[in-house]
Amino acid sequence: MKVAFYAPWVTEEDKNSVVEALNSRWLTGGPKAAEFEKSFADFLGTKYAVSVNSGTAALHLALRTLNLKPGDEVIVPVFTFAATANAVLFCRAHPIFVDIDPKTFNISPESVVNKLTKRTKAIIVVHYAGQPADMKEIIEIAEDHKLHVIEDCAHSLGARYRENKTGSLGTIGCFSFYPTKIITTLEGGMFTTNYGLIVNKAKLMREHGMTRGAQEREKRAEWYYDITDLGYNYRLNEVQAALGISQLKRVDEGIKRRVEAAQYYTRKLSEVEGIVTPYKAENRTHVYHLYVVRVLEEKCGMSRDELFSKLSNKGIGLSVHYTPLHLMTFYKKILRYSTKSFPNAEEAYKEVLSLPLFPTVSRDQIDYVVDSIKDCI
Ligand SMILES: *Cc1c(COP(=O)(O)O)cnc(C)c1O
Repeated sequence: MKVAFYAPWVTEEDKNSVVEALNSRWLTGGPKAAEFEKSFADFLGTKYAVSVNSGTAALHLALRTLNLKPGDEVIVPVFTFAATANAVLFCRAHPIFVDIDPKTFNISPESVVNKLTKRTKAIIVVHYAGQPADMKEIIEIAEDHKLHVIEDCAHSLGARYRENKTGSLGTIGCFSFYPTKIITTLEGGMFTTNYGLIVNKAKLMREHGMTRGAQEREKRAEWYYDITDLGYNYRLNEVQAALGISQLKRVDEGIKRRVEAAQYYTRKLSEVEGIVTPYKAENRTHVYHLYVVRVLEEKCGMSRDELFSKLSNKGIGLSVHYTPLHLMTFYKKILRYSTKSFPNAEEAYKEVLSLPLFPTVSRDQIDYVVDSIKDCI
């Protein structure tokens, strides 16, 4: 048997929507993007949503709309994907890494407090693996110090913290629709907020910094536009938006399947000595973009890396999320953090293993993964 780390969930309905968009008059900047934005904002419970061509673009726009200046500091969890920190560097601001909670692997509110300075402008939280971070504590810190909270929701579409969904809790939410994420537009992303001024700026920056509002045209000729800021081309095209609309209709079903698969894994793995199943924090739901276990070397008699290669040889797709950013060459070079700066992240890095989990994973496939783990250790 072979079990891939991830398999896409694309239906006939998805394909029909894509073909319909290809046959339409608009291929980009048209009604599908607007419709996707509207249904996304409705799903999330935010006033606004702006579609963009990647999660990274959403993060970059988030920092640009908050008027980050060179030298400003932004708090970033060290246990995340590179894009979270890169978006800060694109603005010539400083990502200030902080450690994680050892159980949930989410940003640790206590570590945030220790890293605040006069130059801190924002805190980025990543809802790791699909489980919301400690938002009550983070928002309290942000309010006390007049900081913005940006939620990197690349993993957490549909996850709730108390009643509210991630991406509606901070100043701005950023989503990714990369193929492995909760829904996909192949590449793509979404920027969400409740603030009108922020959404206007995000839309301007998404399209080259170009103004072409009705007001502007009334004063001038029909063709007229102005460039008022350094913008980008971050548009999501109509074909991708059509796929997004179709995928979003199944988002709850996809999450339900992920959660059921995760529960099945947890039940089966609970009897396996040395494998620690994901920790569930209170007052929030987990959408399991990733199913991450810890491999305890002492009890398993082998390291995570040994288990990784043994399982790979049995045809199982696996991954490690993440190498803490301060240990990677580029950030080491420019940010000069030393090893041992973030003990919880470094400890987690040695032990974490992401097992195959996707909406169409079967019980047989999970049985095979769990049985293979038992065989190996
Ligand atoms: C996937 C991901 C991103 C980047 O999204 P892209 O759509 O690939 O640009 C950012 N942050 C995290 C935590 C991610 O997992």
